[in-house]
Amino acid sequence: MAKYPHLISDFLGFVKQNSRSDEASTTIPSSPRETEFLQKLMTKLTELGLSDVEQDAQSAYVFATVPATTDAPVKTLGFISHIDTADFNSENIKPQIVENYDGQSIIKLGQSGFELDPKVFSNLKNYAGHTLITTDGTTLLGADDKAGVAEIISAAEYLLAHPEIKHGKLRLAFGPDEEIGTGADHFNVPAFGADWAYTVDGGPLGELEYETFNAAQAVVTIDGVDVHPGEATGVMINALQLAVDFQSALPAHENPAETSGREGFYHLLNLDGTVDSAKLVYIIRDHDRAKFEDRKKTFQAAADAINARYDVERVHVDMKDQYYNMREVLEKDMSVVELAEKAMHELDIEPLIFPVRGGTDGSKISFMGLPTPNLFAGGENMHGRFEFVSEQIMARAVDVVLQIATDNVKEAK
Ligand SMILES: [Zn+2]
Repeated sequence: MAKYPHLISDFLGFVKQNSRSDEASTTIPSSPRETEFLQKLMTKLTELGLSDVEQDAQSAYVFATVPATTDAPVKTLGFISHIDTADFNSENIKPQIVENYDGQSIIKLGQSGFELDPKVFSNLKNYAGHTLITTDGTTLLGADDKAGVAEIISAAEYLLAHPEIKHGKLRLAFGPDEEIGTGADHFNVPAFGADWAYTVDGGPLGELEYETFNAAQAVVTIDGVDVHPGEATGVMINALQLAVDFQSALPAHENPAETSGREGFYHLLNLDGTVDSAKLVYIIRDHDRAKFEDRKKTFQAAADAINARYDVERVHVDMKDQYYNMREVLEKDMSVVELAEKAMHELDIEPLIFPVRGGTDGSKISFMGLPTPNLFAGGENMHGRFEFVSEQIMARAVDVVLQIATDNVKEAK
């Protein structure tokens, strides 16, 4: 029997249940699909014999506890994953299973005409000998982050079945709306009651992340003056021209397509307008807090320079911070990261530590006072039809959770 007998069946059950979040909604969770998923999950956690199964009223996260099997004074560890899926078709997901993949063949995704080709997706070469779970080409898979959900549950199930394994109290959290960037805003750190936590929400084997972007969003609205072109001399102010001027005033190559590693950027992601008015939406990103603040100043200065040409303010900037680099919190005490690093080394997994060019739920939760780096869950090509996950890597992710839980006790002695 497999070490984690329900890992894959749980995962397949989870992905088939649509729980996509809804960016347009202001409710918590953002979609009734998520509410339904969380309800079912609570039933499952209760049936598994977990303690304190409840839905937190503030955040809609479902919490549960694996009680300690030791009296040693150890840190309470939290493991967190999100149950919503990204902005891509998630109806009628039909996972395909490819057993003993050879690492080089093209995998046809159902009858969709789409395929996973190692020439396009070189990551496939890392999976020779693995059993892969893919989509049928019409939906995403939802390994992001139902792999994390299934892995945390399998770890809990394993510990409940093996009371001889010494571990401290573990708190589990399963939440909505990560993909629309709002779920963690409401995370209830006191109610969760962990000392350290990990999100299990990431890519390939070994990923361990504690550095994210600092992030802001800016909406630029531009007021023009629209008159007949024949009478426009000295009167017309073309909002679209000001929009072009504004974009041109930003550093030309500091965009997502031309930066990498720790290089930040300005990203124009929406532009909409007429002569009369225009609206531009940007995100601003940088790992370095000082450079991030400078970027926001540069951005405002671009607007100010255009406004200086007119008697009234034509370009309005509405900028708000979204999240910060969790490294700022974690580097004060790296123990939570070191615990995961050590656990991976003990399992012969090489930790892959690199700055995320994005954020995680842990970015926000860490700034709420609960240090929360991110562990791999195994998903590849996330957020679309090419998503896949390896069964073997999922099992390794469970191994890591268990190793962290047991090492935590050894550390305390
Ligand atoms: Zn995710």
